[in-house]
Amino acid sequence: FPAEDIRNFSIIAHVDHGKSTLADRLLELTGTIDKTKNNKQVLDKLQVERERGITVKAQTASLVYSFEGKQYLLNLIDTPGHVDFSYEVSRSLSACQGVLLVVDANEGIQAQTVANFFLAFEAQLSIIPVINKIDLKNADPERVEKQIEKVFDIPSDECIKISAKLGTNVESVLQAVIERIPPPKVNRKNPLRALVFDSTFDQYRGVVANVALFDGVVSKGDKIMSAHTQKTYEVNEVGVLNPSEQSTQKLYAGQVGYLIAGMKDVTEAQVGDTLYLQSHPVEPLPGFKSAKPMVFAGVYPVDQSEYNNLKSAIEKLTLNDSSVTVHRDSSLALGAGWRLGFLGLLHMEVFNQRLEQEYNTSVILTAPTVPYKAVLSSAKLIKARRAVQKNMIFIDQNRVMLKYLFPLNEIVVDFYDSLKSLSSGYASFDYEDAGYQTAELVKMDILLNGNAVDELVTVVHKEKAYSVGKTICEGLKDSLPRQLFEIAIQAAIGSKIIARETVKAYRKNVLAKCYGGDITRKMKLLKRQTEGKKKLRKIGNIEVPKDAFIKVLKTR
Ligand code: GDP
Ligand code: MG
Repeated sequence: FPAEDIRNFSIIAHVDHGKSTLADRLLELTGTIDKTKNNKQVLDKLQVERERGITVKAQTASLVYSFEGKQYLLNLIDTPGHVDFSYEVSRSLSACQGVLLVVDANEGIQAQTVANFFLAFEAQLSIIPVINKIDLKNADPERVEKQIEKVFDIPSDECIKISAKLGTNVESVLQAVIERIPPPKVNRKNPLRALVFDSTFDQYRGVVANVALFDGVVSKGDKIMSAHTQKTYEVNEVGVLNPSEQSTQKLYAGQVGYLIAGMKDVTEAQVGDTLYLQSHPVEPLPGFKSAKPMVFAGVYPVDQSEYNNLKSAIEKLTLNDSSVTVHRDSSLALGAGWRLGFLGLLHMEVFNQRLEQEYNTSVILTAPTVPYKAVLSSAKLIKARRAVQKNMIFIDQNRVMLKYLFPLNEIVVDFYDSLKSLSSGYASFDYEDAGYQTAELVKMDILLNGNAVDELVTVVHKEKAYSVGKTICEGLKDSLPRQLFEIAIQAAIGSKIIARETVKAYRKNVLAKCYGGDITRKMKLLKRQTEGKKKLRKIGNIEVPKDAFIKVLKTR
């Protein structure tokens, strides 16, 4: 395909507005997948995507479509809609010249519709508005057209009205892609310049890089270099995603496909890297802004002997999800592990689930926290800011867009759920970082008979300290075994005790059920008891089982 017969585009939208369903129809219409099968979100390949019914990874598919007697190569990238995965969207857009902006004909413009529109707008891509689900009883495509004109300044006659589910009018989407999205501006005569916009790690073949070619040609057998590592590799395989891998002899500028070059280490072929011919060095492409993590959590192997397995799993998975930041960390209770940064709570859960499902690991995930900047001073006394309204725009009579400034930790945990239930599901939200603000935060210690437990030190808002302290003390009380003496569990801010629970004394006698004189059985039980003790951590003279920490760290 000459470059002028290629179109590269992404499908973007708010979550559930029908991106993946539209992708199914486009794949069917072009004969890429079998129409007679009951195809449902075929590009959502990961187990976590199928189980949760959401897209978390952008997926590429190459389609061939005949229009007015001419064949075109269309490279489609389906993207996630949830705010936590917008990093996937912005990377995908770097391989595209246009987008289909899908809007639900009943729900209209939502928070991620706006966020994703601006990603595409800032990247100067052609934007084709697609109003989907016109088959719904409550669909009101004319109202949505007006919203699109008002908020995005796109003339309403540019909107294409479809039902992705039924396939209604989907053909005109393909025609619009050909007519309204420009072909990639590339030069095949220049030396190779390929952008790695995604990559995965394959156990047998090493790094599989998803590439968009901006210049030149790459063939099997070529000697290429990575701008990032400055290492040389031989290309073993190139091909297109159809949507499964289909190897080809060459990839040409303007195309999107995959490349395997015997990179066996996960630090090779990082997302954002530029690949070029060893014989023809080029200026690297700009790559990507690094993602900014919003939520942090500790990740530890359930058993320390699994440390190396988990390490390798985290490395491989972060290759496929470069928005996760990784720092080594250790905890007295949980051993060696990592502190990972995520873009949100859903992102954290999905990453954890992928570690378990795709890499067969078992992981302890500690309660999420948000970043604070501490300034040491005798009085940190400036009043904490609550949400502050910044902006209000009416989208139409029924819908309003509000902008607020919020403390991050207030929206991280359950804000989304509360917002949804308060508004009976009508409200949606998106957020971006507005920098640090001063707040009245306190450091809270947890004491066992007066000794501080390092693992459980937390930073909390002053007004919430009492309830958080109480919850932790109650949690510990339930999970601490009784011992020979009474244990006082206290939450303290400085020297002030704000919560207390007590575990009564009790002696656990492992020999109690051993009648008679079977000495070997007695020895066995005693041995088991000492082994059990290795899993205990001594705080003062109190033995705390690892499980107790895990429970409290998780539920906080
Ligand atoms: P995505 O999150 O944007 O990828 O949305 P999906 O493609 O996963 O679709 C979300 C839900 O909307 C699914 O239950 C689809 O079956 C449904 N859906 C998608 N398109 C249509 C449509 O045209 N009409 C109706 N009634 N439902 C649709
Ligand atoms: Mg989807």
